[in-house]
Amino acid sequence: MATNTLDDEDATDYEETESALETALRQLSAAATHVDVDDGVIERLKHPTRVVEVGVPLKRDDGSVEVFTGYRAQHDDVRGPYKGGLRYHPEVTAEECTGLSMWMTWKCAVMDLPFGGAKGGVVVNPKDLSPGEKERLTRRFAEEIRETIGPKKDIPAPDMGTDAQTMAWFMDAYSMQEGVTTPGVVTGKPPVVGGSEGREEAPGRSVAIAAREALRYYDKTVDGATVAVQGFGSVGANAARLLDDWGADVVAVSDVNGAAYDTDGLDTYAVPSHEEQPEAVMTYDAPNTLTNEELLELDVDVVIPAALGNVLTADNADDVQADIVVEGANGPTTSAADTILDERGIPVIPDILANAGGVTVSYFEWLQDINRRQWSLERVNDELESMMLSAWNDVEAEVEAGDVSWRDAAYVVALGRVGEAKASRGLWP
Ligand code: GLU
Repeated sequence: MATNTLDDEDATDYEETESALETALRQLSAAATHVDVDDGVIERLKHPTRVVEVGVPLKRDDGSVEVFTGYRAQHDDVRGPYKGGLRYHPEVTAEECTGLSMWMTWKCAVMDLPFGGAKGGVVVNPKDLSPGEKERLTRRFAEEIRETIGPKKDIPAPDMGTDAQTMAWFMDAYSMQEGVTTPGVVTGKPPVVGGSEGREEAPGRSVAIAAREALRYYDKTVDGATVAVQGFGSVGANAARLLDDWGADVVAVSDVNGAAYDTDGLDTYAVPSHEEQPEAVMTYDAPNTLTNEELLELDVDVVIPAALGNVLTADNADDVQADIVVEGANGPTTSAADTILDERGIPVIPDILANAGGVTVSYFEWLQDINRRQWSLERVNDELESMMLSAWNDVEAEVEAGDVSWRDAAYVVALGRVGEAKASRGLWP
């Protein structure tokens, strides 16, 4: 297992078992068997529209020059502008960005957002950059992909290794070159430059809503439910604290160093989140500790992998004892583990539904930028709640109707919408 943590929005492991693109393609083929979409449309959806590669030169603080590689993969825009994060990670590849961009297409479609899917990044370890270097790299990257993106074309956002400050630099660089302040070119910005209230907490909030709805579906309540959360970054910590607020017993949370464990429930606000103090979960005075592997095998009502991709694999899926898995990270479950969990009757609420709160509030942010009118936090959270419930109900209806897994059901909803849009627009020329 890789040792990268969920520093920012989400993370995908770079374990060699299965790449994000392989998983995404497998999931697409599986879903295609459950939905009446033309073969030609499925074929088109197996390929991205384009993957742009750029060189990003950076003058280091010591005066030397290094050139990094950056990507922007645009999967599909039949329903609206491309949308998706930018990650800074040493193992970013064109293939990885492509797989992640496909997930964004489905995530936006399952939420019924008027966006398509994209993902990009720079092959760099952000921990090796000083703040000044990170700023210069971001500005130059923004310039190198300026022609590819735009508020009506492709709207980046934070992802692993990037954050609100990165988006503010990116927006400034784009705006300076275009000669007009353009907040809508990226989302996930600080509210003072057109960011939305509630954007930071949104992916964690949607994970908590998904867990709550899953518990309800399986005749349980959040109140008194036991929960284990892998990863205490923005997704894991916000999900854990919200579930704690709603009465759940969050018995274990972890970071890269391991898990704090208390069968009576942790005080989730007293455990430092990654934003509050990086990699400090183990400083919490818990009666017990666990490894990250042990956390995933706890006998709890809900386990939430919210740190890395590919953490539930053929090696440990048989040992999962939770009643429900809710995916906080992007791609935490390999295809093999998905099959095993399905056979064992353990439902997996997929990432494209569970963590879609991030891109949903990105959509709200984009609307606020275009209209030059800020929404209150209350409005953001109310509209997120109602969009999550509406997506949940659409997916639940497919589960009920088709005897399919939650993942396949979410794909059926997403693929149905994308397929219909493709059929209606037709193939040009
Ligand atoms: N990076 C986030 C995701 O994977 C958010 C993308 C966005 O807001 O555009 O969903």
